[in-house]
Amino acid sequence: AATPLSDCTDPALALLQQVFGYRQFRPGQEQVVASACQGRDGLVIMPTGGGKSLCYQLPALLLEGVTVVVSPLLSLMKDQVDAVRQLGIGAVALNSSLSREEWLASLAAIRDGQIKLIYLSPERLLAPDMMARLAEWPLALIAVDEAHCISQWGHDFRPQYARLGEVKQAFPHIPMMALTATADQATRVDIVQRLGLHQPHEHLSSFDRPNIRYSVMDKLSPFTQLKTFLQQQKGNAGIIYCGSRRRVEEVAEKLRKEGFAAEAYHAGLESDLRNQVQEAFLREQVDIVVATVAFGMGINKSNVRFVVHWDLPKSIESYYQETGRAGRDGLDAEALMLFDPGDIARVRQLLESGDREPNPVDIHKLNAMAAFAEAQTCRRQVLLNYFDEPAHESCGNCDICLDPPKRFDATEQARKALSCIYRVKQRFGMGHVIEVLRGSKNHAVVERGHDKLTTWGIGSEHSSDHWLSVLRQLVHHGLVNQDITRSMALTLNPAARSVLQGNQKLELAEPRIVLAKPSRGRSR
Ligand code: ADP
Ligand code: ZN
Repeated sequence: AATPLSDCTDPALALLQQVFGYRQFRPGQEQVVASACQGRDGLVIMPTGGGKSLCYQLPALLLEGVTVVVSPLLSLMKDQVDAVRQLGIGAVALNSSLSREEWLASLAAIRDGQIKLIYLSPERLLAPDMMARLAEWPLALIAVDEAHCISQWGHDFRPQYARLGEVKQAFPHIPMMALTATADQATRVDIVQRLGLHQPHEHLSSFDRPNIRYSVMDKLSPFTQLKTFLQQQKGNAGIIYCGSRRRVEEVAEKLRKEGFAAEAYHAGLESDLRNQVQEAFLREQVDIVVATVAFGMGINKSNVRFVVHWDLPKSIESYYQETGRAGRDGLDAEALMLFDPGDIARVRQLLESGDREPNPVDIHKLNAMAAFAEAQTCRRQVLLNYFDEPAHESCGNCDICLDPPKRFDATEQARKALSCIYRVKQRFGMGHVIEVLRGSKNHAVVERGHDKLTTWGIGSEHSSDHWLSVLRQLVHHGLVNQDITRSMALTLNPAARSVLQGNQKLELAEPRIVLAKPSRGRSR
């Protein structure tokens, strides 16, 4: 409901209150609206949920003529058109889902001046017939939503977006506004250059999402860890991102068997099914969507309480964008990542397995992501610094702040592990070495006589998860190598010798297997 006005003379504020029903602008919105109305180009960087749409919807109402909005996804357009129509604003999406009659009716409505907002995909906009129409319409503003798609530096490059500069060239005097939730400095510069924006008004919101608690856990028994986490989230809505379709199916299936209301979503599913899952999630009939990155852009659901990353995202931008789908209502939300250092090698291999040379930018981004996961400093600081937003204080709302990493003297444990690797002749992987350390009588151990080794059972006082963490850290410290050519057999590096001989002490980090308890009364 619209708030009654006091003595408001500012037309932008009046429309904000009367049409949109908001009391005041959010930081930056007012200046962005004003500069667009003055005919100036704009670059708007606001986090997901920050209120980007209003930045072009309000000028669309204030300016004479029509505003064209470029949007990458049909579903996104549909949501937006439905939403603004509800506010009584004339809007159409010109896309392939329209019948011929609807298409003609839409064009007629535009001609008759009933339409303020026209949503188009970049493909549709760049088609010659559409460019010709644009020249006939009284154009007020061109807004490019999800503008990071224009840049190869961005995380979701789309070739058609790269051509949008042609639109600016064709209509140099029509203000163009680029909007995105994610853009590091390189991407920002790239967006301005490729679109050909002329001295744009730049708005850069803080990237901080203080209500999201970031945590990274060692990925040890991921399904059990996930289950424990989900049990604390009973009934809450959340998304679990996995790196492959196969994994998505697997995890969704296992969760359903455990009684969770979970559905799978990935680009390999029929589009009907995908829509059903999305709808069910919006309508709260499904709590959990297990998905690839195909799920999310355009999900307009404000009460997502958690986002889990089962696999390592390929960049910090992706991670930020995906975790940013949690807590858009401003209430507390969790972002949990299960991290296996081996994922870094796997993603890198994937990047290098293509026909082309791996893009050095992709490798750089992956390395930055890995550094985030391995960081022993406040997660939020690492994130914000990555987006060139200096953050000097630790946040008090991430796993590192709430439960600072503990280190322990691991010299003795390392010696046990290293000598066990030596005793099995450096021919077995982590799983087998752990079985031997813990004194297992399983077939693989007994068959090879490994239950007769002096190192059999010398580590039975620690759990498998604990040993997995120790072994991974030994790899990390360069004492042990995983031989990719021999099914990840563990081998000893020269550096292992001094630890084995007892000449060197070794400190390791305690594994993070469960979430830190939130501190009470944290100040935010
Ligand atoms: P984005 O596109 O940046 O992810 P949206 O434009 O969808 O975000 O806006 C996110 C939410 O914020 C929406 O629910 C919207 O209604 C709300 N919103 C936007 N501007 C304001 C404002 N000035 N005051 C209150 N709520 C706002
Ligand atoms: Zn922190």
